[in-house]
Amino acid sequence: MQLVDPVRRARCLRVAGCLVILTAALSAVASSRAEIQTASSSSGPRGTTPRWWMNEPVRFLQTNLSETDSTVDPRALVAAVADVGANTFLVNMGGIVAQYPTKVSFHYASAFLPPGRDLFGDVLRESRQRGVRVIGRFDLSKTQKPVFDAHPEWFFKRANGEPAIYSGLYSTCINGDYYRRHALTLLEEALDRYEVDGLFFNMFGNPSADYSGAPMGPCQCDACQARYRRRFNRPVPATADADYRAFMDDSSREVAVAIAELIHRKRPRAAFLTYIKDHTDGIMSESNTAVGRPLPLWPYSASDNVSRSLGSEPDKIAINLAMSFVDYPWRYAHVAQPETQLRMYQNMAHGGPPAVVVVGTMSQLDRNGLIAAKPVFDWHRRHEDLYVGQVNAARVLLLATGDTASYRGFFRLLTERHIPFVVSENLRWLDDGARRFDLVIAPENAPKEIERYVRDGGRLLTGGVMPPPLPIGRVVGKQKTQGYWRIHDRTGLPSLRDTDVLFVDGDYLELEPSDKPVLTLIPTAMFGPPEKVWSDKVETRVPGLVSAPHGQGRFVYVPWDVGSLYYRHSSESHAALLSDLIDGLLPNGRQIGTNAHPLVELTLMDQPARKRTLVHLVNGTGHQDTAYFSPVELRDITIELPREVHSVRAVGLGRALPVTTNGRMRTFTLPSLKAYEVLIVE
Ligand SMILES: [Zn+2]
Repeated sequence: MQLVDPVRRARCLRVAGCLVILTAALSAVASSRAEIQTASSSSGPRGTTPRWWMNEPVRFLQTNLSETDSTVDPRALVAAVADVGANTFLVNMGGIVAQYPTKVSFHYASAFLPPGRDLFGDVLRESRQRGVRVIGRFDLSKTQKPVFDAHPEWFFKRANGEPAIYSGLYSTCINGDYYRRHALTLLEEALDRYEVDGLFFNMFGNPSADYSGAPMGPCQCDACQARYRRRFNRPVPATADADYRAFMDDSSREVAVAIAELIHRKRPRAAFLTYIKDHTDGIMSESNTAVGRPLPLWPYSASDNVSRSLGSEPDKIAINLAMSFVDYPWRYAHVAQPETQLRMYQNMAHGGPPAVVVVGTMSQLDRNGLIAAKPVFDWHRRHEDLYVGQVNAARVLLLATGDTASYRGFFRLLTERHIPFVVSENLRWLDDGARRFDLVIAPENAPKEIERYVRDGGRLLTGGVMPPPLPIGRVVGKQKTQGYWRIHDRTGLPSLRDTDVLFVDGDYLELEPSDKPVLTLIPTAMFGPPEKVWSDKVETRVPGLVSAPHGQGRFVYVPWDVGSLYYRHSSESHAALLSDLIDGLLPNGRQIGTNAHPLVELTLMDQPARKRTLVHLVNGTGHQDTAYFSPVELRDITIELPREVHSVRAVGLGRALPVTTNGRMRTFTLPSLKAYEVLIVE
């Protein structure tokens, strides 16, 4: 299961049934601009070693075996994986339970593994015969009591001095010598024995809560105390704070360095995969559900995860797992087939492989997860040349700077308006000449480095109540309202012709009045009974928008949380405002014009090696509230590109689409869209 926090990367809200949360990650980015990094990654490409995961089409299937599944017939297991259409199989190898006869001390083969049996070895052999790649799964976060009895210092220690025990297993500590030393011995044996295509690590670090959601608090073990004191000159805090979270993040990274080095030395062609971005070859994420998660559902979870991973680390594979199960207590009951398929199509549309996860063997009590995956894998296999070397061609960058509601508001707005965009959690693109954007959107908390980008000619749209590092005028202070913004100037806001006001609920940053305001505040006034509505209404000169040139560039600042309001309430007027602001900032207009329904997700991906562009269309009309149904077939979707186009081919329909010319525009029409389609533009 995934091990990331719900606030920082919103994986829990966005995707994860991750009731278990990495302490270290909690809120780490949400409130701090300093977390946005411009430094070059320490996890760049690995020289000239061939990387199959970057150069081959990948169809990814994971089974999480229970220890009782050790008796599964490996031939039947792998045959079922191949029959579903996967070509990459992530399967249990070691850690909590080894599925091979390990000789390393404190590492235990499954109690259900028949004597002399080597399940992992058998699976690997069967997979090789079928051309299926194998990634071994490890979980080093927990182990058995005899290890604790022999080495209590390797284990997580609660504030009351007790170990953390769950389902009879003892939690290890990322800073203890189980992770730091003994794990390397386990892995050395595994890597010597088996020519794996990769290793995946579950729960990479100290979780802040267990599988039932019960908080564990910071680890108080001697190793943590000593390291923490060396760094901060004080003991580990009783509750996790920003320093502790940074400490935990760094602890995970340090272990990742050692494991990456070992894997790459022993098996140079194998991938190191886990949920963290540093030192890995690929970034894992999850699209999943949890019964206790607040609504609304996030229907773009897979798009969000893949776009964010690839936009942040373009040189890695982004494997977003469609988790079949409903939530931890119901590992064997699945979400609706159209939900799984939507996630898998979103993965593909944003440059990731289709990937699905089931718990147990391939003989499932609930067959819906695998039934849903098969046609997607079949499509991918028939058209696998589409899915190698895709690069997001979007000219708009959405910066993931913090609060997920605000970020998601912008994410959804851009998607609904068919403005191609890519997400990044960092600013490394600032110094990457190959990655230029027409517009950067920072939903809130614009980082200080963004000033240089604007000064050098960039365009920026930002919002929220934290003042951006740009000349926005004198700040009076943060205020709260349940009022309105009065529209004065529609020059740049043609879509707001049918309203004179926008509603605003919550915080805003009060700025000094400007000469020619576009929006001004009408503060909270009487709203009931109707006879008294606005009897005390006041018009102010408090601006609701700042638009100004800066250096060679230009920025627009919306000093209230418009992204969050749109996420929560979907006001047409807020959408119109943002859409017009974006259009006003795009120097060359939009990359794509279309009459597609807002629930059709459209991405623009280049395949540089093939000198062609792919337009992916994912039909999201099957989503309603908490339900996912088959999408409604849509007809006659016209697409317009301001570029040279020689030919367009609709892959699913299997036919060329006529292209018409109108000035610099090239127009073509897709006659029918079912769940998913790709148009090859050459
Ligand atoms: Zn510890």
